Amino acid sequence: MPVKRMAVCVILLAMPMRSPSLTAKVRAIRQNSLAEHPQVREALDWLDHNLDWTTAQQIRLTEIPAPSFQEEKRAQAVKEILSAEGLPVYTDKVGNVIGELRGADDKEVVMLSAHLDTVFPEHTAINVRREGDRLVAPGISDNGTGLAGLLAVARALHVAKIRPERTILFAANVGEEGEGNLRGMRALVDEYGKRLKAVIVLDGSGIDYVTTKALASRREEVVITGPGGHSWSDFGMPNPINALVRGSVRFINTKVPASPRTTFNLGQVEGGTSVNSIPYEVTLKVDLRSEDEDEIVRLENALRECIAAGVKDEMDNARERTRGKLEWKINLIGSRPGGELAGNSALLAALNAADDAIGNKSRNERSSTDANIPLSMGIEAISIGAGGNGGGAHSLQEWYEPMGREQGLKRVMLTLLGVSGLATEKTQ
Ligand SMILES: [Zn+2]
Repeated sequence: MPVKRMAVCVILLAMPMRSPSLTAKVRAIRQNSLAEHPQVREALDWLDHNLDWTTAQQIRLTEIPAPSFQEEKRAQAVKEILSAEGLPVYTDKVGNVIGELRGADDKEVVMLSAHLDTVFPEHTAINVRREGDRLVAPGISDNGTGLAGLLAVARALHVAKIRPERTILFAANVGEEGEGNLRGMRALVDEYGKRLKAVIVLDGSGIDYVTTKALASRREEVVITGPGGHSWSDFGMPNPINALVRGSVRFINTKVPASPRTTFNLGQVEGGTSVNSIPYEVTLKVDLRSEDEDEIVRLENALRECIAAGVKDEMDNARERTRGKLEWKINLIGSRPGGELAGNSALLAALNAADDAIGNKSRNERSSTDANIPLSMGIEAISIGAGGNGGGAHSLQEWYEPMGREQGLKRVMLTLLGVSGLATEKTQ
């Protein structure tokens, strides 16, 4: 496209400073020729011809248990695979595994990440079974697909001897799910700071969406304690579970708007010692999300008021109040900040160009992912699937179909190279 390129050059010469949208345009145009670059083509071919290798890594990693805070074994396996590519690999203080593909300009880095952890407890059965074209196992798609994609792209770049302009970091990070509270990504963003120019998060399957908006969320833990006692002989003493039920019924009747979309989930209850004991403690974990952070604050206040009222109801109705009363508190156990990728960002331009190159169309989505952290700090970030189809995330019936995975992997690689640039461009 010589005409278009010339037009951009003219505009660039006429402008005293480069605006972000022009930078994005220039990169996008460069991207069109990216897929034609001989080494890039070699890497893309590698992705096409090594789908079995990629699936084998996915199965191997999925079968290593990795609940949040217990990711070490899976992290070690990822480290071995990345090291085999000849990349310098290290493990940071929180347990993230980072492989570096040094660029010509090491002062700037771009990151491709995939979270290691799953929501499943350590002893969940996770033998991957095949059902026709499907692989079935908890965590197979979220985030077996992302991890396999990370390794496949790293290997393809290595095989094709691609040297990027900016250094590429391949990061398998801890603590994305639940109470991990994005601690792995927080540590990565902290470590690389201003050098970090873009983050591409691989999470699950698919090629039909790009998460550009970070959904804010807050997780709370309600704790109610009391004296406890015997179900028969101490009947009438205040009961923490009764208080929780009274408060919860009030809370779930809270009206939330459809727009901005706002949700709550009572996700986990623990407490009590036996069926014939008045419990001395109960805890409830609650997830609050909204497109508007003000709505989250409103829900937090509602939760506090409802639990306070539930505890008061229980105390007011207790026949025996002399031997102790109920105490309650609410702990913040997770907080994910919101944020949004600018429409004229270089990263979005690179993603759009990659979509064009593979003939794909993406819809923009809002979600709560590792990308929340860089986005909330003004660093360009997206979260995308690593191809194929998957479903049943966070359930024991989770499944993945590798069919068409190569499209997703190419999309990832072209987006990544779109923001890293190629060092060889300068010498040719
Ligand atoms: Zn995930």
